[in-house]
Amino acid sequence: MKCKICESKEMKFINADINKCLNCGCIQKNKDVDYKKEYNDKDYWFDINSKQFEWYKIDQENWFNYFKDDIENGNILEIGGANGYISELLAEDNFVYLQELVDIRTIKIKQNKNIKFVKGQIEIVLNKIPKVDTIIMCNVIEHINNPKKLINQLYNILSDKGRILIVTDDGDNPFGGLLAQLNHPEHTVTFTKKGIEELSKNKFNIVKYWNVSDYLIYTVLEKK
Ligand SMILES: [Zn+2]
Repeated sequence: MKCKICESKEMKFINADINKCLNCGCIQKNKDVDYKKEYNDKDYWFDINSKQFEWYKIDQENWFNYFKDDIENGNILEIGGANGYISELLAEDNFVYLQELVDIRTIKIKQNKNIKFVKGQIEIVLNKIPKVDTIIMCNVIEHINNPKKLINQLYNILSDKGRILIVTDDGDNPFGGLLAQLNHPEHTVTFTKKGIEELSKNKFNIVKYWNVSDYLIYTVLEKK
């Protein structure tokens, strides 16, 4: 098999499902993730209003604080925005396209005039979204079967100097990177810094790269 990110054939076997690229270091599943199986309504989506998931809100709020200074004023696309919690905060100053596989928005977010909901797999619904200035992918890129192709598609809908803000698992962390693959059948690729550089090649400048915690990174790619 070839690396999904750098196309190297130098791959190290980890287990029957997982390989690591010896060139860029990205850890990845050896087949595509089956969206219908992994994201079916009943098993995957939880009720965001339940007290049990208070941690999720706190997480989202933290991420918003990381993002807010890196946002280019104008239109925003949030990919995989779940219930729209981050989109709602963004919509205070911007117009937001919120994409998600299923509609789990609360009534309040449904009524927000600054948020347009786009339902479906991003690769398929991208043609419904006009040019945007900022794209946010918070814990999303590791779910995409062909991230390189998606990044190329996103390049085309970004305005000049537009940005993609990415939060994802840290493949350079030997423990966290591997766990992100072992614990998540729906994670296709765990990126390393070299993997992010490969993804950006010729198209984006990496203006920020931050190992936020032991297992997550936050990076900002700016269109060249
Ligand atoms: Zn590679």
